[in-house]
Amino acid sequence: MARIVLDRNRCKACYLCIDACPNKVLCVDDNVNNLGYYPVKIDIEKNCVGCAMCARVCPDMAIEKVYK
Ligand code: SF4
Ligand code: SF4
Repeated sequence: MARIVLDRNRCKACYLCIDACPNKVLCVDDNVNNLGYYPVKIDIEKNCVGCAMCARVCPDMAIEKVYK
């Protein structure tokens, strides 16, 4: 179950979140978003522990932690 929600159309491809994730959950999407960037996508969803480090470092608030 996803513990984060990613808005791929807000992402500006800085990839800070990929570096911040301790569990290698995120990777680069092969398809561009509405802004023309290659956004991140959730790759290995089962590895996400909901630590929200990715959301904290995102300058564009493209990632939100969800409580489920
Ligand atoms: S930190 Fe935010 S803007 Fe940067 S790659 Fe991740 S989701 Fe995209
Ligand atoms: S919440 Fe934590 S484990 Fe999940 S993708 Fe973000 S940084 Fe990685």
